[in-house]
Amino acid sequence: MDAVPMAATLATPLDHSHPRLLRGDLSKRHTLAEYVADGGYDRNAWSMSPSDLRTLVGASGLSGRGGAGFPAAVKWERVAAQPGQKVLVVNAAETEPGSAKDRLLLLTRPHAVLEGARLTALAIGATECVLYLPERRQQTCAAVLAALGELCPTSHLRWRVVGAPAAYVAGEESAAVQRANGRRAVPTYKPPRPFERGVAGRPTLVHNVETLANVPLIARYGSDWFRSVGTHTTPGAVLVTLSGSIARSGVCEVPAGTPLVEIIEGLGGGTGDGFPVQAVLPGGYFSGWLSADALHAGVRYVRDDLGRFGASPGSGAISVVSDGVCGLYQAAALLRFFADQSARQCGMCINGTAAMADALGRILRGAARPDDLSQLERWATRTLPGRGACGHLDGAALAARSALQVFSSEIQEHLRFGSCGRPERLVLPGIDPKGMSIYDRDERRPFARAHQPAALRPLRVLQ
Ligand code: SF4
Repeated sequence: MDAVPMAATLATPLDHSHPRLLRGDLSKRHTLAEYVADGGYDRNAWSMSPSDLRTLVGASGLSGRGGAGFPAAVKWERVAAQPGQKVLVVNAAETEPGSAKDRLLLLTRPHAVLEGARLTALAIGATECVLYLPERRQQTCAAVLAALGELCPTSHLRWRVVGAPAAYVAGEESAAVQRANGRRAVPTYKPPRPFERGVAGRPTLVHNVETLANVPLIARYGSDWFRSVGTHTTPGAVLVTLSGSIARSGVCEVPAGTPLVEIIEGLGGGTGDGFPVQAVLPGGYFSGWLSADALHAGVRYVRDDLGRFGASPGSGAISVVSDGVCGLYQAAALLRFFADQSARQCGMCINGTAAMADALGRILRGAARPDDLSQLERWATRTLPGRGACGHLDGAALAARSALQVFSSEIQEHLRFGSCGRPERLVLPGIDPKGMSIYDRDERRPFARAHQPAALRPLRVLQ
């Protein structure tokens, strides 16, 4: 299903005298005329020089909204400083199962993303823009292509559309570059990083959809306006997607630094089943489990504050688990998901993710081997972190490590009785009760298709 996420119309605490990403009617795609009438393609923004644009984005403090939170201006400068023609990749893969924010932007505000891409291409000197679109989401692709068709052809920027396969690691930036180069969409060892050698061997900037959608607003209203919400370390607003045990699931926009409890209670309406919050994955499946104690301690939704609890805002996908379901059941299914979604390139990842999933599965069923718990702790803290070509193995290790802390009392109950008494009902999105991923339901063998011609290979080239 490719529909607009339901809670996109949630009230947000933003000051609406200032436009932000989810402003206005979110029930349909904005045409180019509607986007321009709303302030898009501002004359002053487009009169800036490339270096002025880079300076402005640096002053705004915009950070990447795809997961790593890296300063956008640093990435821009690195690419701009390289010799030769540059490439920009719009990473719209959004393979995080609990995230719908990029899909919402592409379905309803595609011109904000496209203008952001054009301004960014201007700032870094890119002559080609690759749109890396999720090939399983046909409505999303159609909305972007319709918007692309409304643009005037330009002689200095070539657009190319590449399909992102349905696989968790396909959204990693080096996997996007691989796919744009006609290869399997799996991460590569670094160096070289994309800014050194990326698409067609050229210096390449890979940016997330939400990151790019912020660029026209910064160019139009300035860095001080952008910083008027958010925190010193993460200025601006962020899009979050609420899922799991939540009364109102969907996408909403909050100033960075908003207390997480306000997002869950105020915007999401709290847990849907009336039980208190047991645990939260605050930023996608690689962001680490957060206990309810952290919520009660007032943890704010920003990287440095979540980091105090060993978690991160990641891609903004907030999955809530209430006390009405077994938390350890969610944690075990999540480890199975990581094992299932390994790109199977690194031995440590293939064996390590499977071993952790097996061990926690045995603990869950009350059939643990004597050393399962100690081995799981050793693998998650010492053996596996930093041993994969990408962050997938680190994400799996963090999911295991944080689960051992957050669900420690449940683990003891499962070890003794084989159950904690709570229903084993899965609330995490995108994983079925057997721990397999949605990708297997959508496409039985996610990587098998990567060798075939992409369904969306260049549909339109404007030049
Ligand atoms: S760490 Fe895992 S997912 Fe990442 S490249 Fe290696 S095998 Fe693939």
